[in-house]
Amino acid sequence: MASSSTHQVPSLIRCQLMTLLKNMGGSEPRLVKAATEQLNKLPFYHSFWNHTTRPSLDLAKELISMFTAREMGKVFFTNSGSEANDSQVKIVWYYNNALGRPKKKNIISRTQSYHGTTFISASLSGLPTLHQDFDLPGRFVLHTDCPHYWRFHLPGETEEEFATRLADNLENLILKQGPETIAAFIAEPVIGAGGVILPPKTYFEKIQAVVKKYDILFIVDEVITGFGRLGTMFGSDLYNIKPDLVSLAKALSSAYAPIGAILVSPEISDVIHSHSNKLGTFAHGFTYSGHPVSCAVALEALKIYRERDIPGHVTHVAQRFQEGIKAFAAGSPIVGETRGVGLLIATEFTDNKSPYELFPFEWGVGEIFGQECKKRGMMVKVLGNLIAMSPPLIITREEIDKLVSIYGEALKATEERVA
Ligand code: PLP
Repeated sequence: MASSSTHQVPSLIRCQLMTLLKNMGGSEPRLVKAATEQLNKLPFYHSFWNHTTRPSLDLAKELISMFTAREMGKVFFTNSGSEANDSQVKIVWYYNNALGRPKKKNIISRTQSYHGTTFISASLSGLPTLHQDFDLPGRFVLHTDCPHYWRFHLPGETEEEFATRLADNLENLILKQGPETIAAFIAEPVIGAGGVILPPKTYFEKIQAVVKKYDILFIVDEVITGFGRLGTMFGSDLYNIKPDLVSLAKALSSAYAPIGAILVSPEISDVIHSHSNKLGTFAHGFTYSGHPVSCAVALEALKIYRERDIPGHVTHVAQRFQEGIKAFAAGSPIVGETRGVGLLIATEFTDNKSPYELFPFEWGVGEIFGQECKKRGMMVKVLGNLIAMSPPLIITREEIDKLVSIYGEALKATEERVA
């Protein structure tokens, strides 16, 4: 079980989207100890030119054994989720060049997705503000549909039919561009920063079938969903995703030290390995790739996730969290949709429960709700007329009850101010 007196969340103030980084809350002594011990032993050594340190080797081994949705072969360390997704694209390009397929370079992503802010990862992201006036996205990215059933389904269309339509649209896009030009498809199991958008039923099954048919690699971005957030160790476990490449960050170290990672399938890593031997090097990496202190902290975090069965704890408390919030939201005239899974949830404020009757942005409905929560000791992430919550994974049932009750009070107060 996840909670003990020393590991409890001291205050609900931690319940905001950014805490999805800190799975273990802000006061886990084992993570502090792991960092201190490593700093005393070997504070740094690089991982270039066949060098590395013991913590990075151990962490790579541990990650390969933890990710069981499909077999993975090698791990590449970065300092962030953006760098992880950036590296994914470079690896995919390198892989296709090694295979003599220089045209197979475009990446398909989804509108509303979030993959980071570097040139490549912001290009992959499907949020207009990340592109506007940055001369993005780069021309190697094609965006396909956002899988938001509530907002985009046609009248009378079931979730399964919606998923079929989106898979057909993806296939048409691939055929229009030419399958020989499409290298990879990237997706978050649940779109996070883009508004907590869950895949409709059968979505990933149908999308994976299309991608496979045209020899297109599947990159799963588990930067938010990795390490228990959804009640499974990875989002890929929940949605039966069998990716070729996996991006990780945030909860990898419970945010106590900066680190990201990508997992690479054995088929891809074999090709890269032999091509690098031919070229004399695999010339990609960062000074702090596999930083021993970050790796030591991450190793300890993974140990804790396993020992305390964090995914099991999330499953145990998530029902109360999801049902409590959804019950308040269902009776509210200013909530259009509340959506979530595990310890991740969003509330979208609209008029008359309609996806099309948006409150004017300048009314700041999400902001008002955020203020009402703050007054009561809880912070939520405000994204326009949408708010998101993702408490630390060690939250207790009692803390969930408190959180849900503050949510209810803040919602009532917001209704009064908006009416
Ligand atoms: N991918 C996803 C799904 C994310 O949510 C984020 C950050 O929120 C990133 C990538 C980028 O990670 P970072 O901010 O560590 O660069």
